[in-house]
Amino acid sequence: MPLSTLSRSTGTPHGAWAEIRLDRMVENLRVLKSFQSAQTRVMAIVKANAYGHGLLEAARALSPHVDYLGVSSPREVRVLKEHKLETPIFLLGRLFPEDLPSVILDGVTLSVSSYEEACAVSEASLARGRKTLIHVKIDTGMGRLGIPFGLAVKSIEKIASLGGIEMEGLYTHFPSAEREDGFTESQVWDFTIILRALEKKGITFALRHAANSAGALKIRTPIFNMIRPGLMLYGLYPDDSLRATAQVLPALTLKSRILQVKRIPAGHSVGYGRSFMAEKPCTVGTVACGYSHGYPFAAASQARVLYQGQRLALAGRVSMDYLAVNFGDLRPQAGEEVTLIGEEGGVSVSASELASWSGTIPYEIVTGLSAFIPRIVIP
Ligand SMILES: *Cc1c(COP(=O)(O)O)cnc(C)c1O
Repeated sequence: MPLSTLSRSTGTPHGAWAEIRLDRMVENLRVLKSFQSAQTRVMAIVKANAYGHGLLEAARALSPHVDYLGVSSPREVRVLKEHKLETPIFLLGRLFPEDLPSVILDGVTLSVSSYEEACAVSEASLARGRKTLIHVKIDTGMGRLGIPFGLAVKSIEKIASLGGIEMEGLYTHFPSAEREDGFTESQVWDFTIILRALEKKGITFALRHAANSAGALKIRTPIFNMIRPGLMLYGLYPDDSLRATAQVLPALTLKSRILQVKRIPAGHSVGYGRSFMAEKPCTVGTVACGYSHGYPFAAASQARVLYQGQRLALAGRVSMDYLAVNFGDLRPQAGEEVTLIGEEGGVSVSASELASWSGTIPYEIVTGLSAFIPRIVIP
């Protein structure tokens, strides 16, 4: 099988690989867009190695269908630029001054969270004879980056008079768009107040955006004309409550292969700490994937993996490069595949399940997958 050949060629113990379905990302994007008006634009968030799916592959697949690619570091910008992606890039977050020159020369659109930051971008742009597009971020409730509500109008008025920059966008961020407690609506209201106050002063914005994945399903108003989905593009849910609202399909499957199979007698332990003790004779298979690949150590006691249409428990702790599977009385062969995240023969293990077994969120599971794991694009 070609995939096994590929994974083998990468050598063990880095034997795990991820299969990426780009068609699903494009389809998930279509699902998200269906919650918005036809004119709504999209910034596809591909930060954190496209949520672990492979930055370049995801960016190439999504860019024909979106208006912006959103990243969070100058390194990601370099990768996209070196591979000549033409789609405009937006750099989320805030930079330190030493990072400004390269991203300005790359023509990236920058987020600005204060008047002082706007001044730094302005100066650095003027010094290089550039005009940098900026989106001003206002803090309507996230409490991290962004100009505080009370300072927004004054600060933005001052920013508008700076040279070397052009205010293309105004945006904010939702901390709890999946909830139904009215907080997100209050943020939209505050955003609207600032937008209207600035309009009165003749300051307008071509792009106005707030919605992450959850927001894209819930908030539809002409105040905003762009959405910024991340997690749901990859077919995962920010919150299980959204499963009934929209159907997206996971784009990533994590697989590995069995390195060795052995039969162990009752009373024999497996793994560090000897937390697994066989109650009766069983077959244990050691699989080439551990926490160094991003498989969560904390999941061990509840985790299930897929083998030939069955969900099997682990035997003992996850170690750095290996995990052990309790095959019971099955007769697996070394070299056979095991699915760690994905679906197979009518059963599945989702990144969300793996997250709940390990006390974390699906975001951490996929972004935590090691960059050393080959990403194999499934056409
Ligand atoms: C990561 C991020 C998003 C995407 O959020 P999801 O919940 O993954 O859809 C949107 N906007 C900003 C500012 C972000 O940092």
